Amino acid sequence: MSAKFWPDWLPIRPDLEGLSPYGAPQIDVPVRLNTNENPFPLTEDLQNAVSESMAVTLRELNRYPDRDAYTLRSALAQFINHKSGTHFESDSIWVANGSNEILQSIFLAFAGSALGFEPSYSMHPLIARVIGKDWIKIERDDKFQISKREINLALAHSDVKLFFITTPNNPTGTTTSLELIAELATGAMDRGALVVVDEAYAEFSAEPSAVTLISKHPNLLVSRTMSKAFAFAGGRLGYLIADPKIIQAMQLVRLPYHLSSLTQAAALAALSRAATLESDVIQIRRDREQLTAELIRLGLTVIPSDANFLLFGGFTTTPEIIWKGLLDRGVLVRDVGISGYLRVTIGSPAENKEFLAALGEVNRR
Ligand SMILES: *Cc1c(COP(=O)(O)O)cnc(C)c1O
Repeated sequence: MSAKFWPDWLPIRPDLEGLSPYGAPQIDVPVRLNTNENPFPLTEDLQNAVSESMAVTLRELNRYPDRDAYTLRSALAQFINHKSGTHFESDSIWVANGSNEILQSIFLAFAGSALGFEPSYSMHPLIARVIGKDWIKIERDDKFQISKREINLALAHSDVKLFFITTPNNPTGTTTSLELIAELATGAMDRGALVVVDEAYAEFSAEPSAVTLISKHPNLLVSRTMSKAFAFAGGRLGYLIADPKIIQAMQLVRLPYHLSSLTQAAALAALSRAATLESDVIQIRRDREQLTAELIRLGLTVIPSDANFLLFGGFTTTPEIIWKGLLDRGVLVRDVGISGYLRVTIGSPAENKEFLAALGEVNRR
């Protein structure tokens, strides 16, 4: 978007002039493997449970929702405790319209500059800029990992109050160990800074969640979402696990009644059936390993992934030509702007097959 895009009569903020809105292409093709959604729709049972839960809410739609989403936050606390053996109560949980809103609230509530380890989730610097925060980036190593070296480089930035780590990382699929996260949290605590761990893909990973570190490191915030493993991207429900004082800061910056009663009801119903979703996650993890092996068999490079997507490269031509060739064959993947690579979401078995067949055609040896 050029500066001329905005007419002279529009008092657009100067720091927004050159920005483009977030825009993963939404192209209507048969095989959409570009936004890391769960390929399996909710079961009919689950759809009915969500409908019933929302129908009850409709009777009171003339009333504002529970501002503090108490029931939903309690249910999420139980879900996390069950998964991670923790002891959180509802006062350690915050909820919002997708974890992007959670991230925005974090930027709104806390002072200082923010820092991330890139390549990573493109929305972190974008939301930071929209809020008017400085964003500092530390490059990951050549395997897209973070080591002690990068942690020390990050801690050398004394003006930073918000350190972001995405694990498993989007778009690379790589994980960061709890040990390193704890080290960053200790260094950050010494200077009154926070560490935000974006765990949008945690359910697909074998690593334990960073929520298990919060009791020892109260400056650690863990952001999660129902958009990926929960197959609930359209429902828009993100949540935060953190010290109750941090949750109180979130309440300062939230808009009143920001989470509709329909969203709260739908999310509660989806959450009550969490166990039935487990089999989909297991299948996606298994298919991820299989797709990795198949891509390697095609002579491609694959970054080992703990998420529901793969970053792959080593093409016989440019990623742009591969991307377009796949699209011409009805398969949409993501060009994430990493030189030589593309990202593909693990789809249903049929979708993965179509992707592989199309890729074999466009990446001719
Ligand atoms: C998908 C994603 C999110 C957020 O999604 P919401 O739908 O807003 O919950 C957050 N962080 C990362 C790293 C993601 O990939």
